[in-house]
Amino acid sequence: MNEQAQIWQEIKHDLANQLETNTFEEIFESIDSIFQVKNNYIYLIVENEFIKRRIEMLYLKRINRMLEHHVDEKHEYRLITKEQAEKELSQAVEYDPVKADHEPNELFYKTNLNPSYTFNNFVVGNSNRLSYTSAIKVADQPGVVANPLYIFGDVGLGKTHLMQCVGNYILEGDINKRVLYVKADQFVEDYVRYASKKKYNEFTNLYRTVDVLLVDDIQFLAKKEKSQEEFFKLFEQLHNQQKQIVITSDRKASDLKDIMSRLTSRFAWGVTVDINRPDLDHRIKILEKKLMAETSDKDLIPQKVIEYIASVFDNNVRELEGALKRVLFYCTAFNYDFNIKNAEIALENLIKPKHNNKDFVKDRVQNLLSLVGEYYNISTNDLISKKRTRNFLYPRQIAMYLIKHIYDLPYKRIGKYFSNRDHSTVMHSVEKICNQLQINKNVKIDVEKLTIKCGENS
Ligand code: ADP
Ligand code: MG
Repeated sequence: MNEQAQIWQEIKHDLANQLETNTFEEIFESIDSIFQVKNNYIYLIVENEFIKRRIEMLYLKRINRMLEHHVDEKHEYRLITKEQAEKELSQAVEYDPVKADHEPNELFYKTNLNPSYTFNNFVVGNSNRLSYTSAIKVADQPGVVANPLYIFGDVGLGKTHLMQCVGNYILEGDINKRVLYVKADQFVEDYVRYASKKKYNEFTNLYRTVDVLLVDDIQFLAKKEKSQEEFFKLFEQLHNQQKQIVITSDRKASDLKDIMSRLTSRFAWGVTVDINRPDLDHRIKILEKKLMAETSDKDLIPQKVIEYIASVFDNNVRELEGALKRVLFYCTAFNYDFNIKNAEIALENLIKPKHNNKDFVKDRVQNLLSLVGEYYNISTNDLISKKRTRNFLYPRQIAMYLIKHIYDLPYKRIGKYFSNRDHSTVMHSVEKICNQLQINKNVKIDVEKLTIKCGENS
């Protein structure tokens, strides 16, 4: 059995213990095969569309959380019905020669698209309306209305999302279309690798046979003259064949100073649109949509709290999303009401560092360490020491867990507070507490109480 299959069996075993027997038998028992592992998605084959929906609605988050404890690198489960799987198998094309070089088992043409980026969940407002309508038109008539479509704007405002909508939409209409999403730096890497290995043909086979090319963050071509030259040729060829090209960038084409103007001037051949920061109303709408996606319950968080979050995080959508997830995590994990006070506590560490700096976090961590020491009746010195007696070990793991979850510092930095422990020790401790939280009531109580204490004393 391969590793992923083994992991699934273990998770299944845990599910059998957690769920009502009926539910387990009805939904999970028959799931035994993995269709493929691709782009860190692990596709499980399920019996039918009905079961697929049910799992997606009710259990997918849970099994993905369980998966986190089994893998080092981030992976997620996805579901595919038997019928879909068979269809895909019969259509499978051995297409991607570059990839095939490393992964002979790669069955499918790789689009690199994230299937969750769709027009359906892209929230439209004043700041992105023009970009959105242009993208829809392009997706509807690739190669015809705007070629290339050039989208620019600051980080975290939805460029990648919107560009991938185009690809996903086109694929939905015609599964045989060759859509390729690539970050510009990946293009450079591919070029360098394959030009130097005299496998140039494979490189051009990959890029020049596409129907739709999505190039993200084109500014990363700066100063890479050879790659620019190559991209120029590719662009000309695809454009001549009326293959759709979509490009994103963090700036206007005319401001791409370190990219040859021969290339950037061509970006103006099509349509250029920009995405700006969303206004308050738009941010509220985005939060509502994300809340629905996360919980299927738009009333879970009162409007006032949504408005509060939207009012504080006005910079970009990624931050906004992060803030919402945090409030959700904090209030559901500890069963707190969704009110403004609790949202403030949950977000404090995101808000304050925005204004403050590293010293602030350092102070907070020191404070946390003394609170934890006090709580377990041990000295801070013992808490952060390397002594391995159980009296100290457990509180230490709890402290590491709390720092990770409240301040979200990198493991390495957390290790520094504990006599310079290395990052893997910290990671294991945090994971251990995560696991314990699910099964051990006392651990849950400790974490709950300490989290409140840490919040109160700020
Ligand atoms: P960019 O590429 O501009 O840096 P992304 O496309 O990666 O930004 O967007 C960052 C996050 O915000 C993603 O999770 C994306 O889904 C989300 N996002 C951005 N804009 C919107 C929007 N208008 N509606 C819904 N989600 C959005
Ligand atoms: Mg992006």
